[in-house]
Amino acid sequence: MKRRPFLGALAASALPAFKDDAPQLNESQARAPTQITLLGTGTPHPSLERQSSSYLIETGGDTILFDHGTGSHHRLLESGHKAVDVTHAFFTHLHYDHCMDYPRLVLQRWDQGADLVPDLDVYGPAPIARMTDLLFGRDGVYGPDIRARIEHQSSVDTFALRGGVPPRKWPAPRVREIKAGDVIQGNTWKLTVGHAVHVQPFLECLAFRLDTADGSLCYSGDSAESDSIVELARGCDILIHMNHMFSGTAPTAAFRDAVGHHKGNARVAQRAGVKTLVLVHAVPSIDQPRIREQIVHEIQQEFAGKVVWGEDLMRLTFAGPVIATTGY
Ligand SMILES: [Zn+2]
Ligand SMILES: [Zn+2]
Repeated sequence: MKRRPFLGALAASALPAFKDDAPQLNESQARAPTQITLLGTGTPHPSLERQSSSYLIETGGDTILFDHGTGSHHRLLESGHKAVDVTHAFFTHLHYDHCMDYPRLVLQRWDQGADLVPDLDVYGPAPIARMTDLLFGRDGVYGPDIRARIEHQSSVDTFALRGGVPPRKWPAPRVREIKAGDVIQGNTWKLTVGHAVHVQPFLECLAFRLDTADGSLCYSGDSAESDSIVELARGCDILIHMNHMFSGTAPTAAFRDAVGHHKGNARVAQRAGVKTLVLVHAVPSIDQPRIREQIVHEIQQEFAGKVVWGEDLMRLTFAGPVIATTGY
């Protein structure tokens, strides 16, 4: 299936527009309810229970990733998907717990895809284009591996067995650098890029809103309490928000202002008027019985909607949301 969404932009943006050759969606694909799978709800902390940040959205025949942090590709496989299924990857920021499995995604898609699937559409803040070139370019980290797989006869044989027709193409993710205010128009969805409040100016940090035919999702990326997230998430069915710390326990004001805390998240959700708040990216010290319940309870004092403590492989839809944990 050919997919080539065009990259639109708000009036203030100078981003180029890409002409769209629309895919042929069958009726069941177009009408299937959007499904969101939490692939990685953890932090940089090493954990077997929680992989680092990544979220999978299946909507209108597209399979979209928001971030792809450490270990989350394994969760993608556990969720019943493979790299070749992914059509779009959006990155909020380039902390490694949000992008370390990007190479695995690109290389497995390229290797298994055997030139039969299009190159991946990738969106993220600068310098994701440079990162991509440093990883997969001819002089990149994986350049010698890629060349060996293209030129050695054993790899050419494997490529042909997978249905590929030599000569094999070099992997070339279609990378577009994005910033707050940009709008990316898919065939059945619209993604709006907003500001996150995190570790600027060292890394640009973004948040995403995805509007689909059956509902709207906002993902804060890593962000402290922020008016910009309130505006981006306004009226959404689901807000997935970083919930890194218990309020009042940050070691410094700078720390608090980069990662936020649970009472601030309650205010964001209430002000934005979202229906469901999904809490993710909790450090192990608060990801404990009783502390979890206390956080949810205290958020519910401020926020009138549903509160969900996110878990890896939890699935959500906009109708309810219906939650079913898979795997394990
Ligand atoms: Zn993070
Ligand atoms: Zn971060």
